[in-house]
Amino acid sequence: MTVESVKKVKLGHYPTPLEKMENMTKLLGKGELFIKRDDTTGPAFGGNKTRKLEYLMQEALDTGCTAVMTFGGTQTNHGRTTVGAAVKLGLKPILVLSGTDTGYLSGNLNLDAMMGTDIYFVSDPAKMADTVAEIIAKYEAQGDKVYQVPVGGSNPLGAVGYIMSVKEILQQMEEQKVKIDHVVCTVGSMGTFAGMILGAKYFNAPFDVIAVPVSPAPKGDKEKDVANFANEVSKTYGMGIEIKPEDVKIAYGPDAEPYSGEAYNKPDPVTREAIITLAKNEGIMLDPTYTGKTFRGFIDMVKEGQFIKEGENALFIHTGGAMALWTKEHLDDMQQQLRENCTTTQI
Ligand SMILES: *Cc1c(COP(=O)(O)O)cnc(C)c1O
Repeated sequence: MTVESVKKVKLGHYPTPLEKMENMTKLLGKGELFIKRDDTTGPAFGGNKTRKLEYLMQEALDTGCTAVMTFGGTQTNHGRTTVGAAVKLGLKPILVLSGTDTGYLSGNLNLDAMMGTDIYFVSDPAKMADTVAEIIAKYEAQGDKVYQVPVGGSNPLGAVGYIMSVKEILQQMEEQKVKIDHVVCTVGSMGTFAGMILGAKYFNAPFDVIAVPVSPAPKGDKEKDVANFANEVSKTYGMGIEIKPEDVKIAYGPDAEPYSGEAYNKPDPVTREAIITLAKNEGIMLDPTYTGKTFRGFIDMVKEGQFIKEGENALFIHTGGAMALWTKEHLDDMQQQLRENCTTTQI
């Protein structure tokens, strides 16, 4: 089966807008800067997980499943999008989250709850596998068939979504008569980045794909992981492409203050500054865990010429997640910076 003939169920709105960031382009004064609004795919606000879920949910339907289970941190965007997809298709949504119920449903959890999800918090990672088996057995005992979506939707089937996104971008470049030299995205569970690297080769795109990691990683490891995963996907669909670790372009940022910040889901003032910069200039909201960190890297790369040379055009992939801005923790952390960024007048 070729990658282009893999079946999918329609869940999102496409093509997602590809727009020039006029003010960011002026602000940085280098090449033209564009943004691809994969944060607008829907359902349940969407994000990059929708392109993957279209393929995964097709498999859930084809195998007669009645419930969909997925996994992640308590604020998983992937979980929220999966729930949105499940309810749209009439399937029961189940989330198994690594973490503790704080007793307060904010950000993505607020939305998961609104969509009627069965939410399980698992605080001890050592108990995860057994707990998942028990939960599935419980649903099966009541007649459900549970489809398990892997973390981040990143298996070869899910990655097809981002291979095919390259075709959509190439078509928009042609329609809008724009030239793009570099694409910048986030790398987490790898489906997006590996998919786009493969898509760029498969469809002979004129751009390369560069990623910013969401958590600190020793240089070299992630490149190998991405290459291995991409090669697995390539083999699965007979794409005939081989990716070497040295072909994988990851931007880490300065050693003292890497783009990934201190840890996953732990934004710092520099990341928040990047979020505020895009909000102020384009009215577009990023998220604190993924795209804020990536956009900081994007600005730096444009400014300093790492990967992106003076005069070259670059496209930022907005992969979603802005609702994580409204988690209690992030709101608390952000208060001072917000006050400094606006004026408030009590009358
Ligand atoms: C999951 C996610 C990513 C990372 O994508 P992967 O395919 O997991 O690497 C990036 N941005 C947002 C907002 C996400 O939710």
